[in-house]
Amino acid sequence: MRSNQCPVCDGSKQPGRTTFTADLGENLVVVRHVPATICEQCGEEWIANDVAKLLEEIVAKARQEHRQFEVLSLA
Ligand SMILES: [Zn+2]
Repeated sequence: MRSNQCPVCDGSKQPGRTTFTADLGENLVVVRHVPATICEQCGEEWIANDVAKLLEEIVAKARQEHRQFEVLSLA
């Protein structure tokens, strides 16, 4: 299997940007322009570990500060 082949549909994975949303119940965190690898056929997305870690930190901070709604951009 090629490394850029989608395991879901065998489509081609391409680098792109996505919008990450975390609904925590009390708070909603939206992060735009998140770097990701996206399947051009089925739209499945993969986020790199270092980016996922950053998103976790953003969500943890929003939770700590009890922000009800937060929209950020990584671009
Ligand atoms: Zn796919």
